[in-house]
This record gives sequence, structure tokens and C-alpha cells, in this order.
Amino acid sequence: MKTPETPAFECETGNYHTFCPISCVAWLYQKIEDSFSLVVGTKTCGYFLQNALGVMIFAEPRYAMAELEEGDISAQSNDQKELEKICLQIRDDRNPSVIIWIGTCTTEIIKMDLEGIAPKLERQIGIPIVVARANGLDYAFTQGEDTVLAAMAHRCPEYKWCETNSKRQDQSGRIRVNTTSNNKITSQKSELTGSNLVLFGSLPSSVASQLNSELKRQSILISGWLPSQKYDELPGLGGDVYVCGVNPFLSRTATTLMRRRKCQLIGAPFPIGPDGTRAWIEKICSVFNIKPDGLEEKENRIWKNIEDYIRVVTGKSVFFMGDNLLEISLARFLIRCGMIVYEIGIPYMDRRYQAAELLLLQHTCIKMKTPVPRIVEKPDNYGQVQRMHELKPHLAITGMAHANPLEARNIDTKWSVEFTFAQIHGSGNARDILELVTRPLRCKGGLTSGSRSLSKQTTII
Ligand code: SF4
Repeated sequence: MKTPETPAFECETGNYHTFCPISCVAWLYQKIEDSFSLVVGTKTCGYFLQNALGVMIFAEPRYAMAELEEGDISAQSNDQKELEKICLQIRDDRNPSVIIWIGTCTTEIIKMDLEGIAPKLERQIGIPIVVARANGLDYAFTQGEDTVLAAMAHRCPEYKWCETNSKRQDQSGRIRVNTTSNNKITSQKSELTGSNLVLFGSLPSSVASQLNSELKRQSILISGWLPSQKYDELPGLGGDVYVCGVNPFLSRTATTLMRRRKCQLIGAPFPIGPDGTRAWIEKICSVFNIKPDGLEEKENRIWKNIEDYIRVVTGKSVFFMGDNLLEISLARFLIRCGMIVYEIGIPYMDRRYQAAELLLLQHTCIKMKTPVPRIVEKPDNYGQVQRMHELKPHLAITGMAHANPLEARNIDTKWSVEFTFAQIHGSGNARDILELVTRPLRCKGGLTSGSRSLSKQTTII
């Protein structure tokens, strides 16, 4: 028997809706400004991208499909020649610093040797080619970014090489590696410590610089981000480098950084919500033997600042169907805000990488005197809908496939995909998370649990 404080893990059939991981090209091409992503797949993948990414496709994005034809699948065409033609065209039209090949279900099934072809073509066309297998057979949604970053970790220079070059902080607050030797290290830098800290995870630049400055306030200067904004600014990695993730779905990247690049992983909760951000900074400070300064006051200030939202959510219940791997961190924050979480569905749960986050979830539940929610890995959407009928949650956080049908049955919903694209990291963005969560609750205004019927088909006996 499990004690109520221990999270109960379950695993279901994996019959759930989520985005295909190739969708990561949408945000990665914007983050790595000089990259070009090439999805090697079929029309199915093309249709998905075209529909999922909406108006973005009209803005000449730096991604494209290499659409496989009959000849490619029956091995009548030469894969290398075909890819060479496309990559030469990309080089001539866009001149990127790196081309990212995204493998798909089809390239897996026909066993196309993308990793074998890439080094040959790379030499031929003179542009680095990174291969990531972000296919729907093995991964879900945000894990696409994980596969790309894990592949990119191999391309980061050795840390020692970086040390011979001076580093400086540019005016925007971003740290970058300088390849010229005549730059002086600013006097401010000598007061800061922890310059061998690399953060991994793709965040919008404004959010990344917020986290940079939160750490800088504790006298910790980071040496780089994976991914960096430009391909040639990738951070140096090696045995002396500490790495820390900002997103819960980057377990493969973490493993690659530890095993292949010998980095030291800082296992911390993720900087989502003021509680998570504080715990994240505290953990990093503890590794560098720094006593955190003013964190508690800052956290309290933020809780005070979001009191209006907390009044709306306190006592309300929420059900995460699970599709983007941010669920544990969001649930932990919402429990701290006073919500009751019935179930946390999650596509994949790496208990080692998320250990600190799970511990914080447990502590939060004890603190808020609420039961620890059950965590359902690879959920079965059908079973979840049945459970929702019984549990009658105030809010379901779900994908677009279920949102309207649930609304029609009187269950308020929030599209989970919005949490992936909204700015939710750092203590300053706590309002944004609650803005998203409370929108459906506020729309209806003054709900009471007694006034709702969860299913129009339910007959009351
Ligand atoms: S699940 Fe497979 S076939 Fe479907 S879009 Fe993703 S990679 Fe393409």
C-alpha cells in the first residue's frame, strides 16, 4: 500500500492525443536564428505541419519538407543524391549555418540511414548537418526538442577550447563565446562566479534573459545556453561544466550531456511558477556554495501580486489529460495556488530526471494539505473521459481533440498546447500561467460545483 504522500504512478495503453514531435521545428527555427530544419517524411507529416503551425507557414519559415515518393520508399532512388539536391538548394536560397534533418516515422520504418548520409553530405556542401529522430513512433510533442538538443550536444565545442577564448557579456545580457582574443573581460565578471554553468532548453530570448538575470542577482554568471541563438555560439562542454535543465521534457539531452559530454547535471525542480523558480535557483546556488539572497522575499512578493488570480482558482479542481510533459510542474504550481489536481496524465515520465520536481510536488501537497494526485503515464484518453465523468473536475487541461466535446458536456477546458508556446518560466511569468488557467473559469463567472452536469447523457437516478 502506498502512503497518501507518495505519488501513485500508473501506466495505461498510450492511446492518447498529442502533437507529433516534428512540431518542434516551429519554435526551434525561431530560436536558432541561422538554422534550417528539413523534415524528411511523407505528405502526412506535411499536412500536420501545415495545419498545426497555422499562419506561420506564410512567413517563409526556415523549415521545409523533403517529401518521400514511391521511388524513395522502394529504394529505386538514391537517398544521398536526393538529399544532396535539396540541401544544395537550401544552401543557395537561405545560406544557413546548420541544417537540422528531422527523421520521421517513414524514415524509421524504411531504415533510411540519415546518420550515415549526413557526414558525407556535410563535407560535400560545407554546412554542418545535425540529425534528430523526432518521429511519432517513439516520442510525443515536446520530446522533439529533446531529440534535437541531444543531437546538438555532440556539436558543442570542448570546454577547454572555450576557456582559451575570452567570454564577454553583450549588452542584451546574453553571454556568448568570443572567437577573437582581443576582448577584455569586464571588471563586473570578476565578481561573479559559476561561469561554467550551461542551461539547456529552448526559451524565448526575453525569458532566457530573465532567468539569466535572476541567477546574476545571486552572483552566478552562466557560460551559455543549449541551444544558443546562433549555431556558432554553442556553449563549451566537458567534465568541469555543470548543466541544468529549464524544461521537464529534456531527459535525453540530460543523459547525453552526462554520459557523452561528461557534464555534471544539477537535478533541480523546473523554473515554472515562483515556487519552482525559487527552488531551481536555490539548487544551483547550493552547487556553487552560494547563500541565496532575497529569494524568499521575492517569492512572497510574487504570491501577493497574484492574489487576485489565486482567489479565482482556490478550491477548484483540475484534470490534466497529458500531452506535453509540462504537466508535473504545472500541477505542482496549481496545487500551491490552492487547486486540487485529480490526475496528472503525462506521455512519458523520467523519474530520475524529474526526481527533484516530484519531490517538490510531494512537499507542496503536504504543505497545502491536499492528496498527491495520481500520475498516469501513457494515458488512455477514453478511460480518462470516463474518470472525468465521475470526478467532475472544474477544469480539464487537454488537447484540441477533446476540448470542444468536453465543453459541450459542460466541462471547462484549457488547451494544453498554449502552455508550450506561452511564456511560463521564471517567477515573473506566474501571472501568465494563471491568466491561461483562469480564463475558462472567469468566462463562465461564479461557478459552483453543484450547478454543473458533467455529461448531457448522464441520467440521474
Ligand atoms: S507521427 Fe510520424 S507520420 Fe505522422 S506526422 Fe509525425 S512523423 Fe509524420
